[in-house]
Amino acid sequence: MTRHVIVIGAGIVGASTAIWLLRAGLRVTVIDRIGWGGATSHGNGGVLAAAAMVPVTVPGLTRKAPSMVFDPDAPLFLRWRYLPRLLPWLTKYLSFANDAATRRIASGLAPIVTDAIAQHRALAQGTAAATWLADSDYSYAYRSRADFDADAYAWDLRAQHGFVPVLREGEAARTYAPNLAEDITCIATLKDHGFVLDPGGYVQALGKEVETLGGAFLQASVHDFELVGGTFRAVLTDKGPVAGDAAVLTTGVWSKPLMQRLGIKVPLETERGYHIIFKGARDGPDHPMMLAAGKFVATPMRDGVRCAGILEFGGLEAGPSKAPFDFLRRHTKAAFPNMTWEDEVEWQGHRPAPADSLPLIGEVRASRIFTGFGHHHIGLTGGPKTGRLLAQLIGGAMPNLDLTPYAPARFA
Ligand SMILES: Cc1cc2nc3c(=O)[nH]c(=O)nc-3n(C[C@H](O)[C@H](O)[C@H](O)COP(=O)(O)OP(=O)(O)OC[C@H]3O[C@@H](n4cnc5c(N)ncnc54)[C@H](O)[C@@H]3O)c2cc1C
Repeated sequence: MTRHVIVIGAGIVGASTAIWLLRAGLRVTVIDRIGWGGATSHGNGGVLAAAAMVPVTVPGLTRKAPSMVFDPDAPLFLRWRYLPRLLPWLTKYLSFANDAATRRIASGLAPIVTDAIAQHRALAQGTAAATWLADSDYSYAYRSRADFDADAYAWDLRAQHGFVPVLREGEAARTYAPNLAEDITCIATLKDHGFVLDPGGYVQALGKEVETLGGAFLQASVHDFELVGGTFRAVLTDKGPVAGDAAVLTTGVWSKPLMQRLGIKVPLETERGYHIIFKGARDGPDHPMMLAAGKFVATPMRDGVRCAGILEFGGLEAGPSKAPFDFLRRHTKAAFPNMTWEDEVEWQGHRPAPADSLPLIGEVRASRIFTGFGHHHIGLTGGPKTGRLLAQLIGGAMPNLDLTPYAPARFA
């Protein structure tokens, strides 16, 4: 019988899992080497992107990507020295850039993201974290109607999952978003979305709730598991073993070596991303906006406007590159020409990207070791739903969702 669960990783997925486990009456210890919400869950764009079921690997990507890498005005960057190590994953990743695979991935992502607002509200209800959530529209800002039409494949897919935008052009677009540059003439707005006013602060508030509910936190680095007869017994950390009845891997992009200890080689890469916070910004966006030309989001957070996005391949070890920051700065100024700010904060982090763009949610064999990682661009959005599903699985309840698409053993 499962009484004590060890949750490894204190990002949005780990914090959500821990809260739902505690609410179900289980004992929980969370282990993280840096603390609550200090990694990718801190630096994201903050959007609760309920319609984000369209993966990066849409049909046509294989044809477009090479020229994008050489185009300084495209949001795709590559550290060339990393290419040989990237190739096996990249080949697999691009093999999904076709219509059938994209539709299958979207159907897999939809149940994780579409009810995100309700899932975040349910998770944060009655906790200090609730004050970090804001309801809002979510807009995609295009230079022209033709640019919007060029995105028809993604919009059709979103429509099939119930998300149809309100389209504003010309004067209507200007009235709706007067701070946007005049050459942005077409805005597609999704209603009933939301965002987080400080994603790192939000996860820290969820962490406080874990501790209020009686959960323990241990700052330590996990390097292996102890299994007896194929069943989980303890996690091995730099501070010694921690025993429990079950463990959950919510270690984001760093999950690969731990999965390897379990005999599963997951094709997981980092999609490096960047943000700049324009602190104290005025005359910027009043709700999250995806600036379609730069494929990054501008979100009005508590400290200022956070512009977050960029896709860079270059591995986990290299530090930030300069060009993505220049790109974000240039495109932000072009999109919000009257925006002023007092200071800037730069950040670079790692999206956990499995080659097939679907998170790994489930039990590894019958080991009582569960996985909750691989959420790509949608981890903030889908973290609470993932945590709830995991808590149900671990507690022995049958989730009301077919979890086959997320099976951790699909790569075994
Ligand atoms: C620029 C950018 C913008 C983004 N914008 C959005 C957005 O607007 N909306 C959205 O939904 N998503 C967005 N994302 C994606 C989202 O941030 C991630 O999918 C999500 O944060 C992943 O959460 P996680 O809990 O899986 O991982 P993380 O937040 O990375 O947490 C993993 C934790 O595990 C710990 N850990 C790892 N290995 C070990 C170990 N061996 N021992 C102990 N601890 C360990 C780490 O210290 C870390 O705290 C964005 C990402 C980026 C980079």
